Amino acid sequence: MKILVINAGSSSIKYQLLDMEKGNPLASGVVERIGEDMGNLTHKAYPGTADENKSTFEKPFPTHKEGMHEVVALLTDSEKGVIKDRSEIAGIGHRIVHGGEYFFKPTLVDNEMLEKLRKTIPLAPLHNPGHIIGIEVAMELFPGVKQVCVFDTSFHQTMEPKAYQYGIPYELYEELGVRRYGFHGTSHKYVAREASKVLGKPLEECNLVTVHLGNGASLSAVKNGKCIDTSMGLTPLGGIIMGTRCGDIDPAILGYIADQKGWDLKKTLNVLTHESGLKGICGSNDLRDIHKRREEGDERAQLAFDMAVHRCRQFIGAYFFELGEVDAVIFTAGIGENDPDYRAGTMEGLEKFGIKMDADKNANWNRQPSAVSADDSPVKVLVIATNEELEIANDTVAVLNE
Ligand code: AMP
Repeated sequence: MKILVINAGSSSIKYQLLDMEKGNPLASGVVERIGEDMGNLTHKAYPGTADENKSTFEKPFPTHKEGMHEVVALLTDSEKGVIKDRSEIAGIGHRIVHGGEYFFKPTLVDNEMLEKLRKTIPLAPLHNPGHIIGIEVAMELFPGVKQVCVFDTSFHQTMEPKAYQYGIPYELYEELGVRRYGFHGTSHKYVAREASKVLGKPLEECNLVTVHLGNGASLSAVKNGKCIDTSMGLTPLGGIIMGTRCGDIDPAILGYIADQKGWDLKKTLNVLTHESGLKGICGSNDLRDIHKRREEGDERAQLAFDMAVHRCRQFIGAYFFELGEVDAVIFTAGIGENDPDYRAGTMEGLEKFGIKMDADKNANWNRQPSAVSADDSPVKVLVIATNEELEIANDTVAVLNE
């Protein structure tokens, strides 16, 4: 069975075609700058990393439709294509950033569903309109093929009101849906399940802290396999310090900066989203660069790193108390998988809380889901490479089989 996973943005479409028997990608790529004078498409067919399997070219894509047409042409190309015909695609899984309170599990697309999805646009005005266009184009290009939406927020829908409500007038929740939703749910869910395999314990019996550290970053507390708390909030701006996002700050800062600088709300939020976090402190949002500069004695790079680790530890500490008992802390995504210093800094000096790292294993993680804690560490520290596309494809298959 072949599943096409689509992540459509306002001016881009990321895609991956997966062979579900093998659990492997057959092809992946991205169409960018849709609607601009000149667009860009990068397509890669698997297996192999050879350049012959990769093509990048420029071409205008006036709308998402032309972009998707080109993707289908590449997938079915008589020479380099990975399928003969688009009818080989059994289902399409769409990554949707925000499902609001409407969607707590992967959902089959139909008219009623799309109507509900449109109601979530005010909650994710930058993402959900693009997702909806992606669904509409896919419905047109693949008539009769079932489409499934998989939401970044749905894994967190098991939180209780005490965890998701903000201390603001309750009417704002009732009227506008202002509450904590949480994001990266597909990744948190995927690594939680993989962790249960490593721990040799059913997921329903696992208490975990999942730490997704990419350019965007969030943590979740998972009790008996279900999310009970998460660090991101109404939007993906909240929580820990990220690449360019500020994470949680005193909300009054917003008004103070806007007043003093004469900025409007849009500009202020833009700075907190794109010019803050690690980049705001030291000018770079890439940990590789930050480590290099730390080694050269750059104080700002050191401060940025220390702040990020400090804030991450605060959340982990809070989640230990919420969970009471923890089987494992799991690191994943770009930083979580590749940065032993970040992991070591976050887990340092916590032996009394049951966390004992193995410096060697941490420095030489073998890319397999495995522990980087000492064998006798009561709380395991695992590193698991996330695979959101596979998770979306698995969810899509599950809905198709319902
Ligand atoms: P993601 O959003 O999951 O793709 O993560 C991207 C981030 O991962 C980059 O901005 C880097 O900060 C970080 N990253 C990627 N590779 C490495 C590495 N080898 N060492 C440290 N950080 C890395």
